[in-house]
Amino acid sequence: MVDTSSVLKSVRERIAELARLAEAGDAEAAKKLAAELTREIESALEEKPAAAPKRSAPKAPRDDVVKCPRCTLRSFTFQKGTVREMEDGSGGFEARFHCTSCGHEDWRGIG
Ligand SMILES: [Zn+2]
Repeated sequence: MVDTSSVLKSVRERIAELARLAEAGDAEAAKKLAAELTREIESALEEKPAAAPKRSAPKAPRDDVVKCPRCTLRSFTFQKGTVREMEDGSGGFEARFHCTSCGHEDWRGIG
């Protein structure tokens, strides 16, 4: 992946150089430098990933049976296929658990 800030820094330096060339009336060199900058920016844009890769959701929690928060028995069971992204924006995941003892159900953070 391209280090965007170093590309931008180098482009900024050459834009200053471009301004100097324009001021000096060296149109040919200025044009060449402008073309070079355009190429560099275009290639940086192409290499930039469309979006940051999202963390893939775990299929199941590490412990699929845990202590129930209501009846405290170890029967709070992970419900297959209920893994979803947490709504708090933390990027974490949670899954639905169902207690086979007291019937309590709730979402629980996993992985
Ligand atoms: Zn329970």
